[in-house]
Amino acid sequence: MSHSITAPPRAWAEINLSALLKNLAFIKQHSNQAVMAVLKAGAYGHGIEAIASALDNQNLAYFGVASVIEARKLTQAQINTPIYLLGPTFPEERPEIVHNRWTPCISSIDEAEHFNQLNSGNTPIVVHITVDTGMGRGGFLPMALPGAISRIQQLPNIQIEGIGSHLPSADEDRDFTLKQFASFEAAVRSNKAKYIHLSNSAGLLDYSNTATNLVRPGLMLYGISPIPKYQHHLSPVMTLKSRVSLVRTLPAGHGISYGRDTILDQDTRVATIGIGYGDGYPRAVSNTNAKVRIRGTLCPLLGRVTMDQIMVDVSKLPDCTPGDEVELFGPNILVSDIAKAANTIPWEVLTGITPRVTRTYT
Ligand code: PLP
Repeated sequence: MSHSITAPPRAWAEINLSALLKNLAFIKQHSNQAVMAVLKAGAYGHGIEAIASALDNQNLAYFGVASVIEARKLTQAQINTPIYLLGPTFPEERPEIVHNRWTPCISSIDEAEHFNQLNSGNTPIVVHITVDTGMGRGGFLPMALPGAISRIQQLPNIQIEGIGSHLPSADEDRDFTLKQFASFEAAVRSNKAKYIHLSNSAGLLDYSNTATNLVRPGLMLYGISPIPKYQHHLSPVMTLKSRVSLVRTLPAGHGISYGRDTILDQDTRVATIGIGYGDGYPRAVSNTNAKVRIRGTLCPLLGRVTMDQIMVDVSKLPDCTPGDEVELFGPNILVSDIAKAANTIPWEVLTGITPRVTRTYT
């Protein structure tokens, strides 16, 4: 007789799909515009196929991805929502883009001419034109836009469906962002298209988007607001969890973790937890005020994050035992706070959760 025995994972990410749909409902209601859901980087670490399947019947204008590899995953998963490539494409990627009718954004006449030449079919390939209103990453400068559009309109195998731009500092610099909105509005005033789009999460949350009719939210779709005052409208979709593997009382004077930069100043109950930077829990939170949540109690991290394990102070939790579930971040500990402690941004922490963390969907 053979038994198959599978232990539960040491670290896992619970992905709450009803929270995802709730966030989308808020986006639709708040913006009142068509939505391109940004699913790049494995849907910000949440799992691109699962998130795309959950959103496929939500009447979205597009799924935005970063590369043909991501686009291919969606096409292979038989997703029906149109696919948009958010950045410039490489020449060798373009035949596949044309073949699959994914929508590229165009930043140069060269790209447009190449797509035009590759598309020998009867139906023009749909493209969007990118305007660089301040991001400095791609697109035509606003003054060059009218000339570029009239050149591209002459290419018979290409059809301009949209004009977009991107905001580099909507959550940091209001004055500059308002100028960007004004320059984008001026640029699209005489250049009409089916979709006009500028805003990411911060842009759609905090600005009036009168000149556009499509928004491109990423972070807020996953329940995290780039601007703290809007956080209460959103529900975090990912909860990163692990379990306590060991609990001991260590004496005053004992060191904790690599470098021994934490030396206990009193006898302390120390729990070891099965997650580390090899799972994407940022090593940069070592020796900060980062906490984890066990049995409803916040427990401070002790010493450095190691590759596979962390140690926390559970002196306030006399009942803490091996097997106890631990929340690293989620609805009770915002990933934004972990990112802040790590001196980075929530986008990086979410997309940095590694493949060995099992994603479970509810
Ligand atoms: N649009 C573009 C072009 C992007 O690159 C991104 C992500 O960086 C987004 C929209 C979504 O941004 P956010 O996650 O801040 O909503």
